[in-house]
Amino acid sequence: MSSRSLGLTDKVYTYMLNNSLRESPACSALRKATEDIEYSTMQVSPEQGQFMSLLVSLLHVRKAIEVGTYTGYSALCVAQNLPENGTLIACDISEKWTSVGRKYWEQAGVADKIDLRIAPAIDTLTSLQHEAGTFDFAFIDADKVNYLQYYELVLNLLRPGGLVLIDNVLWSGSVANKENQEESTQAIRAVNKHIHADNRVDISMLPVGDGLMLARKR
Ligand code: CA
Repeated sequence: MSSRSLGLTDKVYTYMLNNSLRESPACSALRKATEDIEYSTMQVSPEQGQFMSLLVSLLHVRKAIEVGTYTGYSALCVAQNLPENGTLIACDISEKWTSVGRKYWEQAGVADKIDLRIAPAIDTLTSLQHEAGTFDFAFIDADKVNYLQYYELVLNLLRPGGLVLIDNVLWSGSVANKENQEESTQAIRAVNKHIHADNRVDISMLPVGDGLMLARKR
């Protein structure tokens, strides 16, 4: 849930941001606009947004999908780094939260690259299965109890060499606390275990934000 990287002291975290963050004006304004909104810690941290931006550029992503948009910060980071003909399908169930981001997507000139689908993500992902094997990049950051289903549906959408990022995989450290048997914690543990053993992907789990799993489809 954390909106900043885990395990860093305030001093080191501030140093990291001061010496690496290159947030666009639209991203910066959207981040500030989200601060006073309910569940604002669901917003990805700026260093994570920048990391995702770099990945999108490195991989020459043209077709992307996001499961869980909230107020649209991660979508903005991705869309800003798509080529002219690039698209991001953004899945969320909340018109209220996603409408916060639209203004900033427009400010950044990328609103036409973001195809927002307001519906349960499982329905949207299922409806896209005829496009299986065509997506370059995916980001999963929605309700944790459905993570395993999201992962399987998204993996099928990716092309070989495509990358999926799964957010909150360390869940503020709760995953390592055996006494925590909360439903979301158990769901995250289950998806981590599943991906660790999944020989269809190459993986790396990073302590960026609240823990980020990278899985590249073989
Ligand atoms: Ca998240």
